[in-house]
Amino acid sequence: MNKKLHIIGGGLAGSEAAWQAANAGIAVTLYEMRPMRGTDAHISEWLGELVCSNSFRSDDAQTNAVGLCHAELRDMDSLIMKAADAHKLPAGTALAVDREGFAQTITKHITAHPNITLHRQEVEAIPDDGAPVIIATGPLTSPALSAAIAVHVGDKLAFFDAIAPILYHDSIDMDICWWQSRYDKGKDYINCPMDETQYNDFIDALLAGDKTDFKEWEEDTPYFNGCLPIEVMAARGRETLRHGPMKPRGLTNEHAPTIKPYGVVQLRQDNALGTLFNMVGFQTKLKHGSQTQIFKTIPGLADARFARLGGLHRNTFLNSPSLLDRFLRLKSAPHIRFAGQITGVEGYVESTAIGLMAGKFAAYELAGQTPTLPPATTAFGALLAHITGDGDASTFQPMNINFGLMPPLKTITKYITEKKRGVKKQNRKLTLTNRARKDFADWQTTLPL
Ligand SMILES: Cc1cc2nc3c(=O)[nH]c(=O)nc-3n(C[C@H](O)[C@H](O)[C@H](O)COP(=O)(O)OP(=O)(O)OC[C@H]3O[C@@H](n4cnc5c(N)ncnc54)[C@H](O)[C@@H]3O)c2cc1C
Repeated sequence: MNKKLHIIGGGLAGSEAAWQAANAGIAVTLYEMRPMRGTDAHISEWLGELVCSNSFRSDDAQTNAVGLCHAELRDMDSLIMKAADAHKLPAGTALAVDREGFAQTITKHITAHPNITLHRQEVEAIPDDGAPVIIATGPLTSPALSAAIAVHVGDKLAFFDAIAPILYHDSIDMDICWWQSRYDKGKDYINCPMDETQYNDFIDALLAGDKTDFKEWEEDTPYFNGCLPIEVMAARGRETLRHGPMKPRGLTNEHAPTIKPYGVVQLRQDNALGTLFNMVGFQTKLKHGSQTQIFKTIPGLADARFARLGGLHRNTFLNSPSLLDRFLRLKSAPHIRFAGQITGVEGYVESTAIGLMAGKFAAYELAGQTPTLPPATTAFGALLAHITGDGDASTFQPMNINFGLMPPLKTITKYITEKKRGVKKQNRKLTLTNRARKDFADWQTTLPL
């Protein structure tokens, strides 16, 4: 009990990290600023408060990547999953919880743990007494601590996300789209062509689409030049997008070389595996239903499957792929680890998974042991790899867990996709999750005791 660890933030990630490290015999000091100081979204003093929906999304571990992540969390004795399962509500295949019972259970377990000391205080400076620190202060990290973090990371700490939709490579119809960079400077982009009628219909749909309102405290969200929401650009004039992200210049459609496209949507590779592509310049505040409906009208995307849809929110997060090592430590100051949504994952489940790994990694390190990393074929491994190096740092935005982060079943090339090889969707998911479950169990056997 002479090994000490500071954990800042008693949300989902911080509570999970504290539980894991404390169970490994580490003396954890956990700092939570509520109720002394609130955030714009939390309303209680409970640890692990869910700030919005009461759903942990799909609990189906066979055909859903979020459900798979639930299973891996349960395998690792997750406190958050224990509390969620204890307060489960009827919600079909989703895992929805009674939020008060859930948060109270987490608080009870943390405060009763003999190895955890809870301090209700805002941390304004990163502790520097020689003990390692995990920062898990989430999307609404207090301004004073944000400033202290910025001393280490400079402008690589963002306060708003601006997310363009990301889709699965194998759901793009390459009989309509083609590979080409503008002015033939390589073949790095997939291009979706539109004629004049399709372009005008698309603009009308953007203007008419349902938009999400900002919350009152988000209304000062800045629209940065260069990343305006597409519907805002469309509202500035019908031609604005044709002179911005949808400009057709420097491109020749290889399927119809003599016909000049009127507008082009470009897709750019988003992960090292080449399984995910983002829609370049398509950050948006359209409601998710409208996004799916409107973006599927883009030629070549009629069957698109989206790994995540676009959004714009208040969100404090790091450019993790450039800042963190594979064990979630700041490369420039390895005694500082990050966990939860501040690492650039998105969502309750993902934040918990990163919290769990941060707590375990810190405990192993304090015990002088080096664990192996979870394989990228598992939900834990895929998420961890994405934020600690595999995600593209130049376009990095928060990410949910999805199958596109995992190595595909067969090596895909730019031209031959699993779809074309006839691997059925449902089979593919089942094969991916079976592979993940086996690899996760194998990985657990490699962990030091
Ligand atoms: C408005 C809003 C709605 C959301 N809706 C959803 C949703 O419906 N579904 C979903 O999956 N995800 C949602 N999210 C994302 C969600 O917040 C995260 O997925 C999850 O809560 C992240 O867990 P975390 O532990 O990283 O952060 P949090 O759960 O936010 O925990 C961080 C904790 O750190 C504390 N803290 C902050 N600064 C300090 C400091 N300086 N000192 C001490 N303590 C500090 C905070 O009080 C908080 O308790 C939403 C986020 C926001 C902002």
